[in-house]
Amino acid sequence: MQTRLLDSVRQTSAGKIAESILRKCVHCGFCNATCPTYQLSGDENEGPRGRIYLIKQLLEGQSAGKNTLQHLDRCLLCRNCETTCPSGVEYGKLLDIGRHIAEQQIGRDSKDKSLRKRLRKYLPKPGLFGFGLSVGRTLKPLLPDRIAGKVTEQRPAGNWPAPRHDRKMLVLDGCVQPSLSPDINAATARVLDKLGISLIKAQGAGCCGAVSQHLGAPDEAITFIKRNIDAWWPYLTTSGAEAIITTASGCGAMIKDYKHYLRDDPEYFIKAERISHLNRDIAEIISKEKYQQLAPAKGARVAWHPPCSLQHGLKLGGVVENILLDCGFVLVPVEEEHTCCGSAGTYSILQPDIAQQLRTNKLANLTRHAPECIVTANIGCQTHLQENSPIPVKHWIHLLDQA
Ligand code: SF4
Ligand code: SF4
Repeated sequence: MQTRLLDSVRQTSAGKIAESILRKCVHCGFCNATCPTYQLSGDENEGPRGRIYLIKQLLEGQSAGKNTLQHLDRCLLCRNCETTCPSGVEYGKLLDIGRHIAEQQIGRDSKDKSLRKRLRKYLPKPGLFGFGLSVGRTLKPLLPDRIAGKVTEQRPAGNWPAPRHDRKMLVLDGCVQPSLSPDINAATARVLDKLGISLIKAQGAGCCGAVSQHLGAPDEAITFIKRNIDAWWPYLTTSGAEAIITTASGCGAMIKDYKHYLRDDPEYFIKAERISHLNRDIAEIISKEKYQQLAPAKGARVAWHPPCSLQHGLKLGGVVENILLDCGFVLVPVEEEHTCCGSAGTYSILQPDIAQQLRTNKLANLTRHAPECIVTANIGCQTHLQENSPIPVKHWIHLLDQA
């Protein structure tokens, strides 16, 4: 695609990236076929090709209105379109740049701004979020349905084995997961302990930065990213930690991009590059170990929901499925398995109507063949689906932990 970006845009690092991405797009529209928001609306501006064109107009200095920002906001950032695109267009990076510029040029109304500010204030801080969640649990019967549905039951974490193996790996605790489902990382520690790996947490690490980045606060995201790098670095350089494990694929996809976010930082870029390289989803780790020896209960019928961040961000489609099949689980067929469930970080709060439509469709497909439970790999999808699911929704690592 030919571009004539404003000089003021082209001279920036983000502008150069946007220009090279735009030039790869040949406007073929193949991506529209797999875009969840295009499928729901049939509107060109609600699909990747239309959004790419809107971003191009914005960067070329053409006037844009509230509708432009709304079309960009309705994108789930699921990156399904990236997997479909034959030209390798990195749509996610382009949307990130385009939405930030649109926000600055067009502006948000005060209600939207205030909601985003509150989300940024509470979600990335485990202490604040945990306190809010425990208050919510106490007051649940008094809360409106749409909020009460998001207040999950307390889940005991269970035992976390003390470090005893020579092989050690770090785990990201993240921001909301320790309060919503502390059992995920504890189950991961137990499974890895049986496989000869000790799982440790680094003091001082926390939110991966995705919440701030996707809510239009890139400088705040950089602060979280640098804090994690500083916390992990000594474990990687002097304590022999082999990898940084994520059990939420959304966080994993963000950490894989640390090198992108710190590309212009001479002090941190080398460290960020190494950390992006050492980041592994738990499925990648397990798939390379002798997990068959765990011999979990065989024959259970489960429905697998692959998070978009796992399929399109980390490109790990098929890895969890193979582990579960090898362990004797029966994966029920799921129509439109690759479509987003509507969770998408804070999307289910900011765009509740579309998120609920997608969840309704997703749950119908996941439960059609009577599984015992739904398993997934991202806390956001797990919580969003559980809100309306008639059967339990959990992280797939629990199936191996039941051994
Ligand atoms: S993003 Fe890819 S699939 Fe979509 S219109 Fe551009 S080149 Fe075609
Ligand atoms: S990221 Fe997902 S929702 Fe956004 S344009 Fe691509 S396919 Fe559509």
